[in-house]
Parts: sequence; C-alpha cells; structure tokens
Amino acid sequence: YRARQGNHDVLFYSSEMNRRSLERIKLETDLRFALDRREFELHYQPQYDVRTQRIVGAEALIRWRHREKGLISPGLFIPFAEETGLIVQIGDWVLQQGLRQLATWRAQGLHLPRLAINVSGLQLRSGFADSLLAHLAQWQVPPQQLELEMTETILMRDNERMTQMLAALSESGLRFALDDFGTGYSNLSYLQHFQIDLLKIDRTFVQGLPDNSRDVALVRSMVQIAQNLGLGVIAEGVETAAQAEFLTDLGCNLIQGYYYHPALPAEQLTELLIAQQGGDSAAD
Ligand code: C2E
Ligand code: MG
Ligand code: MG
Ligand code: MG
Repeated sequence: YRARQGNHDVLFYSSEMNRRSLERIKLETDLRFALDRREFELHYQPQYDVRTQRIVGAEALIRWRHREKGLISPGLFIPFAEETGLIVQIGDWVLQQGLRQLATWRAQGLHLPRLAINVSGLQLRSGFADSLLAHLAQWQVPPQQLELEMTETILMRDNERMTQMLAALSESGLRFALDDFGTGYSNLSYLQHFQIDLLKIDRTFVQGLPDNSRDVALVRSMVQIAQNLGLGVIAEGVETAAQAEFLTDLGCNLIQGYYYHPALPAEQLTELLIAQQGGDSAAD
C-alpha cells in the first residue's frame, strides 16, 4: 500500500520540507534583528541545596519572544546563532542582562549567591575575557558570583590561548561548570587541563533514576569523580522527589529541575528570593 502511494508520500514530503525550510529561513532572518528589536528574555532556573531547601544559585537561560510565534526555546535558535556567529553578540547580551539583574537584586537587598551563564565556544574566541571583566566592573559584580557553563565539546578543542584565558579568569575568581557532563567524549583529560569547579550531571542520566541500574551506576561514578577531584557536583533535569532523594543519598545534594522550578522570569525568582530572605529575618 505504501509502495503504491509512494509518489504521493514523496510529493507531500517535499512540500512539507519546503514549508519547513522556508520557515527556517524566515526565523533565521528574524534572528538577525532580534537583538535590535529587544526580543530576547533571560529566564532563571533556581538551583537548590536539598539539605537546606535553599536557593544557592540560578542558571540563566535565554528565550526568544517572537512577534508571531511566541516564546521560542534556545534549542531552536542557538545552533543557528553559533553557525552564523550571531552567538557572539547574543552571548554578550546574555552576560550583560544577567549582570544587570544581579545588580538589581543587590539594590533590592536580595542576594543570589551565584549566577550560572552558558557560553559557546565561538564566544570564547572573540575577545571574551576583556569584555567579561569590563561588564563585571560596570555592574560591580564580584567574579565569584558568576559561573560559566561550558560543554565538554568546547574544552576538547585543546587551544593554548583559550586554556590560558580560562586559567586567568579562574585566577580572578570566576567559577567554571562542566555542562551536560557525561554526554561528550569519554576522554576525561580536560579535567586535568582546565580549572573546573563544578560538574553538571546531564539530565539524560537523571531521567532513569532511581530504577534504571545503568543510570544509577553512571551517576554514582560521576559523583565519585567529582568527590575524588574535590569538585562540586549538581544534577540537572531533576523532576521527582525520588530522584532528588536518591541523588542526595549518592552525595549530590545540589539540584536543578522541574521538581523545584522551571526557568522563571526574573520577577518570579525575585519573589522566591524575597520569601527565602523573609524566612531568614523572621527566624532571627
Ligand atoms: P542546558 O544548559 O543543559 O540547560 C538545561 C535545559 O534543561 C534548559 O533547557 C532547561 O529549561 C531544561 N530543564 C531544566 N530542568 C528540567 C527538567 O526538570 N526536565 C526537563 N525535561 N528539562 C529541564 P532550555 O532552556 O531549553 O535550554 C536548552 C539549551 O540551550 C541549554 O541547555 C543550553 O545549552 C542552551 N542555552 C540556553 N541559554 C543559553 C545562552 O544564553 N547561551 C548559550 N550559548 N546557550 C544557551
Ligand atoms: Mg547549562
Ligand atoms: Mg546543562
Ligand atoms: Mg543538558
């Protein structure tokens, strides 16, 4: 039946493909104007210490509010932004927006201990350190409050200049997290070459907890690597109480995921910080 209908399938498929690539081209064109049109938003996903139930940090995650299509997730446009180099300007906007928000919270008497920001490889090769240090000074944010998330793929491209730049940034107090840990190459040599502070266990490994014995074994090993090297460890994509409990038992008490909150608009994280600090002063 399928074979006889084959031609139709092909016809349908190609027009569908055309429609999709047209849409893609339109989005890609729009992306070039999105910065000027102020269409990006930064959302913040809180990170919790399960033992204290307190917010210990947040990850900044970009969203694109498209005039017609609504909120577009970064998975759909960051790869294209990387291909075209647009990521350099977009990444700089993310950095500035995040630091501006930290300054706002500080002015409101609120304290977020740490803000994590995702950086792309291309960004790191384009005058990154100088502009980063300038932005930190402009918003008077101590380097210790900022954490840069990088993937294994970025670090695998062993580049002497980049290594030195990251070492210098680390020296000045900035923190580094290894994002999506476990999904990249199994070569762990970058843990020797780079000053990493935190391993972020990818959510693909968290999903199977606590029942999938392979995931359990893998996550246990990752926590052990972190502990043996004296690094912090956080799990992303935690969705259930059972996962959070299990991770804590394994020694990973820092948790980020829908179990607590998805990435939130700044105002909503503001409310959580107010509630947390209100609780503090009520207890005094
Ligand atoms: P990531 O850095 O690994 O971020 C975690 C992703 O997992 C986020 O998706 C987050 O919303 C999602 N997530 C968090 N908790 C849960 C959970 O409990 N369950 C599930 N199923 N998912 C959860 P998002 O926001 O769509 O971001 C996707 C990726 O886009 C990020 O992955 C990051 O690699 C990239 N990205 C986001 N913002 C930026 C940015 O400002 N710059 C760069 N270069 N990349 C960014
Ligand atoms: Mg990340
Ligand atoms: Mg991640
Ligand atoms: Mg991930």
